[in-house]
Amino acid sequence: MIRRAAVLTSGGDAPGMNAAIRAVVRSGLAQGWQMFGVRHGYAGLISGTIVPLGARDVGGIMQLGGTMLGTARSPEFRTEDGRCRALRTLNQHEIDALVVIGGNGSQQGAYALSEMGYPVVGVASTIDNDLSGSDITIGVDTALNIALEAIDRLKVTASSLERAFLVEVMGRDCGYLALMAGIAGGAEAICIPEIETHPDEVVAILADSYRRGKPHAIVVVAEGAQHDAHELAEHFAAHVDDIGFQLRTTILGHVQRGGHPTAADRLLATNLGAGAVQYLADGQYGFLAGNIGGKLAATPLAEVVSRPKTLDMSLLDLAGIMAR
Ligand code: ATP
Repeated sequence: MIRRAAVLTSGGDAPGMNAAIRAVVRSGLAQGWQMFGVRHGYAGLISGTIVPLGARDVGGIMQLGGTMLGTARSPEFRTEDGRCRALRTLNQHEIDALVVIGGNGSQQGAYALSEMGYPVVGVASTIDNDLSGSDITIGVDTALNIALEAIDRLKVTASSLERAFLVEVMGRDCGYLALMAGIAGGAEAICIPEIETHPDEVVAILADSYRRGKPHAIVVVAEGAQHDAHELAEHFAAHVDDIGFQLRTTILGHVQRGGHPTAADRLLATNLGAGAVQYLADGQYGFLAGNIGGKLAATPLAEVVSRPKTLDMSLLDLAGIMAR
């Protein structure tokens, strides 16, 4: 029986994590549990930085990006010794169950804890959307909208000056954000890690767009693309006469993480956070609370960590048609 439960955020911060913390804490309190927050992810679990969280402590945070608990990447937790120390902390604080809000790596950690027999449930949260067990993860919608706003703005200046812009978006080894931002932003070319796009192909696309009288061109490049933004920019500089457009490069980087969570992210976070607590209350341990087909769904963490998420590559063709 659960009397005391804790929540932590781990890995990269994602807008909506605060809404998920709030949902976990208030749902846990509604179950009659005492609720706790672990600061700085798995690092805090090892060092024992655990604080009680009441309903008022999680008030006024839903609209804020980042995470009130802090997050971290903890190499120590990847070791058996680190995980044993984390378990000791949980036992010392008499915490009966844990909710882990985070992405791929964080859910690997959650799975490792659950394999040690500890009651844990994950909440799908990463701007990369590279996590199996959830069609969409907390933070993606906000990050996508921030990337789109940047692309829209760049298009305005690009049109005025007949320029092409190379825009690098985040996403680690997953091209989801770049692909979606490219389609929604009307990009002429999209370079993602899942498929090699040779710089010469992009030069040809840009040159063709110029010949067809486009006043601007946008190339969206995922940070993990096989030919990254720097390499592409160098290649374009060497072929500027073939392309026609003047070229500029914008790396969005961490700007994409910090925004106020959109309504979609707040609602998703609330739904998944409350769902995770319900799974714990039902004794359904070792699962990820995700969203599949628009609905809350539980997927075993064992499946989540062993099955890579695939990207619908037909969307690249759609993007090509839309760029005519
Ligand atoms: P994002 O992709 O949004 O940055 P993430 O959760 O994938 O988030 P990671 O840095 O990959 O971020 O992982 C966060 C933490 O999870 C790591 O610092 C580590 O403590 C833990 N972790 C990652 N992989 C494992 C693993 N295989 N076993 C145990 N713990 C792990």
